[in-house]
Amino acid sequence: MSDRSEVKRHTKCLCDCVSDNHLMGLESKPVHLLFFPLMAAGHMLPLVDMAKLFASHGARATVVTTKSNAASIEPALRSSAIDLFVLPFPSTAETGLPEGSEDLAAFPDLETKSKFLAAVAKLQAPFRRLLFDLRPDAIVTDSFLPWTLSDAESLNIPRIVFHGICFFALCGSESQRSLLSRTDTNTDTVVLPGLPHRIEMLRSQLPVTSKNGNVFNELLDTIAKTEPRSYGVVVNSFYELEPEYADHYRNVLGRRAWHVGPVCICNPLRGGQKNAIDQNECLTWLNTKQTRSVVYVSFGSLSQFSEAQLREIALGLEKSNVPFIWVIRECENDDWVPENYMDRIGERGFVLRGWAPQILILNHESVGGFVTHCGWNSSLEAISVGVPMATWPLFGDQFLNERLLVEVLRVGIPIGSKQYALAPEDRPMVGAGKVEMAIRRLMSEEEEEAKERRRRAKELGAMAKRALEVGGSSYVDVDRLIEELMDRRG
Ligand code: UDP
Repeated sequence: MSDRSEVKRHTKCLCDCVSDNHLMGLESKPVHLLFFPLMAAGHMLPLVDMAKLFASHGARATVVTTKSNAASIEPALRSSAIDLFVLPFPSTAETGLPEGSEDLAAFPDLETKSKFLAAVAKLQAPFRRLLFDLRPDAIVTDSFLPWTLSDAESLNIPRIVFHGICFFALCGSESQRSLLSRTDTNTDTVVLPGLPHRIEMLRSQLPVTSKNGNVFNELLDTIAKTEPRSYGVVVNSFYELEPEYADHYRNVLGRRAWHVGPVCICNPLRGGQKNAIDQNECLTWLNTKQTRSVVYVSFGSLSQFSEAQLREIALGLEKSNVPFIWVIRECENDDWVPENYMDRIGERGFVLRGWAPQILILNHESVGGFVTHCGWNSSLEAISVGVPMATWPLFGDQFLNERLLVEVLRVGIPIGSKQYALAPEDRPMVGAGKVEMAIRRLMSEEEEEAKERRRRAKELGAMAKRALEVGGSSYVDVDRLIEELMDRRG
């Protein structure tokens, strides 16, 4: 399908880089890490940020992606000396996927997501050639690309895994797996076994493995099998945020891990996304609002809601009387919008359609709360700037993240999401009343609990920044990994 000429490079050509290896003494060269994220915003954004972070510590960093994703990554890399390599995505004839659909978000259900992941696995051949030519000191690859292991092994290149989830969710999902294999309980609630805290969840909030397609289940199996053969795991988190779980993961579950986050701090001005909303428009609107008065509502890059649920959210926001900025995904139509809604809301609400400048919004002083699906990136981005959350998990690691935010960190208030489900039609409705109530409580200036959540969030935000400063826990772990890779050269 592809020969070496199809592996393209944006900033420098491949032969320059190979000849560099020959001309310079190996010992004088910085450690070279190659970052290869899954093509999905929640995976690409943090790995690109991580590449920037390692580059800022003196490492050489290279990012690998496919053509239609390169445009969204390039702006973030422009100011850093990071190379970008583009691999050819397999053709429609090979995959049966529409031309140019190279992003997980383009596939709404498990069946098409599985097809996409199978297509991504066809990148193995060009990736192998790239690895052979570049010979980095390590590859940092997404857990969803388990096939990167065999080539890394054959070239004796350490493979470091990026799961994109926090220590709490890493430990929690391991605990959930042990629970799912047990058939001796049929209670509505379960306590996750073996964790540092007593974490109780509804059984309906556990991952629904039986409904998953075969390809997906097989992939999860392969991920679990390849991880122990990998060199270790990088986690976008910081030690002070979840010390018991960072320790549990390393000492009880026996994993090698480096905590290097929050990586979003390295890249506050992301750009280049398709359908990006004008930042100035958002800032102009936010500038008219009082400090901490606005609630930001967004459910990440993959989540979808039914029209009836979108309507309930709209009504809940209206009833709350709180100023809001609400991001709606492009794929969602307008049929659900209540009659005369925008007339009634007026200047109090700002509904965005497309890709929002999330970090910029969360950083704005007018924003005082975040209604989130608890994706780990979104959760950590809010933590990094000290914004408390109303939590609305849907699937993936999100229900675990909710437990962390609400019970362990005490910066979240649950809206009342009870069912783990990818498909909107499989989730029970969360009524406008619940939405209204959670937002009122989150934004309250009187309630002691709300004040305490804000105080805790602020404290964690300060800790997050310290973690990446010279001598901070994440700063030290980045250096520790770089030094270890340097020592490996012998
Ligand atoms: N994001 C953004 N604008 C949007 C939607 C999402 O910048 O309109 C970013 C968000 O800041 C986060 C990522 O996309 O970095 C989403 O990752 P997360 O883990 O929160 O959720 P996912 O999309 O993977 O479910």
